[in-house]
Amino acid sequence: MVRMKCILTDCVYYKEFPDKPGVGFCAHKDIMLHLSNSTCPLYRMDWAKKMAKAQKLRVRLKNKTNNT
Ligand code: SF4
Repeated sequence: MVRMKCILTDCVYYKEFPDKPGVGFCAHKDIMLHLSNSTCPLYRMDWAKKMAKAQKLRVRLKNKTNNT
């Protein structure tokens, strides 16, 4: 486990500390080999996270259109 800042919160390897929401870390076992790269070659989109965000947006839009 490497505690580092990463803005790609939709990566499958991005995790948050359960007791510190918003504080993330990279859980990939090989991240130490890629720390000098400007882009992360280990990034993999987590479709479950994307779908959860899309579902929240869908509900917000539905509520917004129902209230107008
Ligand atoms: S693998 Fe790369 S993109 Fe994914 S959490 Fe780790 S540093 Fe971020």
